[in-house]
Amino acid sequence: DAAIVLDAVGKRYPDGTTAVGSLSLTVPRGELVALVGPSGCGKSTTLKMINRLIEPTSGRIVIDGQDVTKADPVALRRGIGYVIQNVGLFPHQTIRDNVATVPSLLGWKRRRARERVDELLDLVGLEPETFGDRYPHQLSGGQRQRVGVARALAADPPVLLMDEPFGAVDPVVRDRLQDEFGRLQDTLGKTVVFVTHDIDEAVRLGDRVAVLAGGGDLRQYDSPAVVLGD
Ligand code: ADP
Ligand code: ADP
Repeated sequence: DAAIVLDAVGKRYPDGTTAVGSLSLTVPRGELVALVGPSGCGKSTTLKMINRLIEPTSGRIVIDGQDVTKADPVALRRGIGYVIQNVGLFPHQTIRDNVATVPSLLGWKRRRARERVDELLDLVGLEPETFGDRYPHQLSGGQRQRVGVARALAADPPVLLMDEPFGAVDPVVRDRLQDEFGRLQDTLGKTVVFVTHDIDEAVRLGDRVAVLAGGGDLRQYDSPAVVLGD
């Protein structure tokens, strides 16, 4: 049962750069797929196409059986949590407000939204009483990254896309975050595609590892049977 299907997807940017050649990839529901490859091989571009922030120039992307080009982009994105590199928190808003100002919570009654926000902060290991009223600059890189994950989870989307979610944090914190993320994933059962240039991270976290080798050449491995022997 596929959550996401990429069928010969390609992207050529207007300046002529081919970021992705012809990429085919199937992501089963509830699986965590690591998309790994060197810098510039088209990983971010691929996530943005799944999210429909940019349009493929060729091929087809199907999410939950629906061709994304025929889906309403707003509805589509509601079903997809997106965690970007360096998180992009609003510096002048508290942590609670950063999580609360996602479209999915805007219509909620104040008190209920706050309860939900605190629940999400708890979920990612940030005690709401301690961190809720702080500002982003008062958090460490790892903690900010968790706020990004909490925000992405706010709409309870079935699909999570994460672009180098552990890139900005030091190795010790990264190990801890990754462990927690593994547990979180087991509990939530989301379909996750995450991007990394770190093979070790891909193998450790991914149920499946897809190796992008530039120009859209793709190899898939069932982790951890992976890359090592190849
Ligand atoms: P990765 O995430 O694997 O580092 P990207 O998807 O960011 O790779 O980029 C893939 C290729 O596309 C790179 O050569 C990059 O320079 C190019 N690229 C990315 N965004 C654009 C853009 N908006 N216009 C032109 N080229 C781009
Ligand atoms: P980590 O181990 O996650 O990298 P840090 O060493 O960066 O954490 O920070 C340790 C603690 O200090 C964290 O609990 C963080 O919230 C707090 N902290 C970091 N920077 C500030 C700041 N500018 N003001 C208040 N607290 C801070």
